[in-house]
Amino acid sequence: MGQIDDLPPLREVISTHGLDARKSLGQNFLLDLNLTSRIARAAAPLDDVTVLEIGPGPGGLTRALLASGAKRVVAVEKDRRCLPALAEISDHYPGRLQVIEGDALALDPVEITGGGPVKIVANLPYNVGTQLLLNWITTPDWPPFWTSLTLMFQKEVGARIVAEPGSKAYGRLGVLAGWRTSARMLFDISPKAFTPPPKVTSAVVQLVPREAPEPCSLGMLEKVTAAAFGQRRKMLRASLKSLASPADALIEAAGLKPTARAEEIDVSGFVRLANVFEAQLKRGASK
Ligand code: SAM
Repeated sequence: MGQIDDLPPLREVISTHGLDARKSLGQNFLLDLNLTSRIARAAAPLDDVTVLEIGPGPGGLTRALLASGAKRVVAVEKDRRCLPALAEISDHYPGRLQVIEGDALALDPVEITGGGPVKIVANLPYNVGTQLLLNWITTPDWPPFWTSLTLMFQKEVGARIVAEPGSKAYGRLGVLAGWRTSARMLFDISPKAFTPPPKVTSAVVQLVPREAPEPCSLGMLEKVTAAAFGQRRKMLRASLKSLASPADALIEAAGLKPTARAEEIDVSGFVRLANVFEAQLKRGASK
């Protein structure tokens, strides 16, 4: 792909603004226009939503989102060195790009996007990517403020998000993501596509909220998955001892075998476990 807009090439933007990549900010810039456009297309349609982008950096993905017709992009960037480059993009697409300087972990995404449908699209900084995803999928209100998440992670993190029971990658992240969303891996991106190249392959993952996740308290689901996967090699009967001792009655009431291991239990199994555990706690409290 030659050009998607009349702005200077990204390499030139990086050198003009002195944006040497900083490891502490997870800066690996994606300069390949075919790939930035592919990510924007994967999140389409964007003409009727606000796109929330975390970590626009020099603006490669931001430009692809705007060129592919995003109605409005709100971009949160922690590194103020990137702001002049982003201001040039904003001037090029009047009224469509709002850049907020700040830490995405500290900002309220609903407040900064101003209500209305939101799609989140980002090449996430590796050091805060998982926490941001957890914040978005554990939001108290469901359906959430976003209608899809199209996100780039290290491939190993992507594999944990979409993992199925029985696989090594299956854990707490997979259960939470699988409970509330339908998540799929879209495509891999080679380290060579980035400047500087990271050590590992990246992957783009898309999550869409389930309309009606199986009823369950998020807090209880977090408790049972933390206990079960905290000692993932052990049988549930041993790993869930911290919740109930002995734990067999709890596990059997959820229709599971006390000899099973965490990675064999599907999302529905964990939901049942969380619900039985909550009921037991309530019975205990009322005695
Ligand atoms: N979107 C650009 C691209 O695709 O080339 C840059 C992606 S780079 C992997 C991650 C970006 O997130 C960097 O620009 C970095 O400065 C920014 N960043 C790091 N931590 C952040 C945080 N807590 N809040 C907002 N932005 C952050």
